[in-house]
Amino acid sequence: MKVLKFGGTSVGSAQRMKDVAQLINDGERKIVVLSAMSGTTNTLVEISEYLYRKNTEGANDIINRLEAKYRRHVDELYATDEYKKKGLELIRFHFDELRAHTKDIFTLFDEKAVLAQGELISTGMVNLYLQECGVNSVLLPALEFMRTDKNAEPDAAYIREKLDEQLEQQPDAAIYITQGFICRNAYGEIDNLQRGGSDYTASLIGAAIKADEIQIWTDIDGMHNNDPRFVDHTAPVRNLHFEEAAELAYFGAKILHPTCIQPAKFAHIPVRLLNTMDPKAPGTLISNETELHKIKAVAAKDNITAIKIKSGRMLLAYGFLRKVFEIFESFHTSIDMICTSEVGVSVTIDNTSHLAEILDELRKFGTVTVDSNMCIICVVGDLDWENVGFEAKALDAMREIPVRMISFGGSNYNISFLVRQEDKKRALQALSDELFS
Ligand code: ADP
Ligand code: ASP
Ligand code: MG
Repeated sequence: MKVLKFGGTSVGSAQRMKDVAQLINDGERKIVVLSAMSGTTNTLVEISEYLYRKNTEGANDIINRLEAKYRRHVDELYATDEYKKKGLELIRFHFDELRAHTKDIFTLFDEKAVLAQGELISTGMVNLYLQECGVNSVLLPALEFMRTDKNAEPDAAYIREKLDEQLEQQPDAAIYITQGFICRNAYGEIDNLQRGGSDYTASLIGAAIKADEIQIWTDIDGMHNNDPRFVDHTAPVRNLHFEEAAELAYFGAKILHPTCIQPAKFAHIPVRLLNTMDPKAPGTLISNETELHKIKAVAAKDNITAIKIKSGRMLLAYGFLRKVFEIFESFHTSIDMICTSEVGVSVTIDNTSHLAEILDELRKFGTVTVDSNMCIICVVGDLDWENVGFEAKALDAMREIPVRMISFGGSNYNISFLVRQEDKKRALQALSDELFS
């Protein structure tokens, strides 16, 4: 069985939902993961912000407008009075749920429940539409099987067991529809897999059921060789190795959630990136195959902070790096890039919530300097150290741009540059010009 995930723009209007329904109704049994309609999760975040600030009137105003929008979608989506009525009941149910969270003090638990409504509504709408079209479609409630453990990591054994149970209960369905993004945590509370996490849901389900393929359907023809939001004339990359895709996703290629590749890679399940707006386009296939001697793509990750620790005592001292890393570990802060010299070490982090404490601890070892608003530019491809010329080409592209750090040799798949955020667009364009034109 295949798992197909459709993102927010793919289900962003009644017409898009109809297109998706047509696309998935091809006689093959499948699990379909849906995001909320585009813009909805952002609106739910906005509602939560109003409620945290105790501005109930402001929150209700947005809730009313959002509900009116959904009522219009329902009217457009269904043809019969029977299903228009069912659609309106669905909308009423979820907006009653939203309003229930406006009555009392607003907590993190309320926020998680509010954010879950987007996926609950979109899946309910598409499921009803398929039923109106005579398709044997059923809902698989993600809150019944998608679960994280005490470390906020997906609980693979639980997911597999509960999903199997759900599937066995409804063996004759042609299409199973489920919610991306939402889950329960180790304590059974409603939670989510972070923004953009529907891709992760699809990959976790694919791994759990040992799917033949995981398809991520979005609004572009696969992974492009550079970020189309910042660079002109990007082009689709047709094949990527799991490692290459994981690097690109982690370092900012928004088309994939950073953690999405891991479950598919471990389960050896190919991932295909496809375009809902152009379903015949070939997209990108992510698998275990490596294409030799090719630089594939470039991505950028913003909001990076670089920290340099200079210490006379580092010279030939074993254990110095361990002590430095332990400080980051004790503040649950992961490090992205590392560069060392005989007198110092530079690292980058993207989570600065404990920066002040980390700096206080690091100052015990030497002089510490910090550069904020930096950006990691990641060049991905077959970058095995024995292939000559590739690093030189990437470096040459950066000749006009101040580079704070360079990292190469950590894997066979990437070179990373740390530059100022304000130089990001220029750096991405320069790399595209040099590497892909
Ligand atoms: P969805 O809502 O379907 O999950 P996203 O907006 O999360 O879609 O991801 C698709 C978007 O990712 C594209 O519209 C594109 O702007 C952006 N993107 C960033 N980098 C890349 C890249 N290298 N290749 C393709 N798309 C990219
Ligand atoms: N709806 C969620 C978001 O907007 C999850 C997703 O789209 O993947 O972040
Ligand atoms: Mg996405």
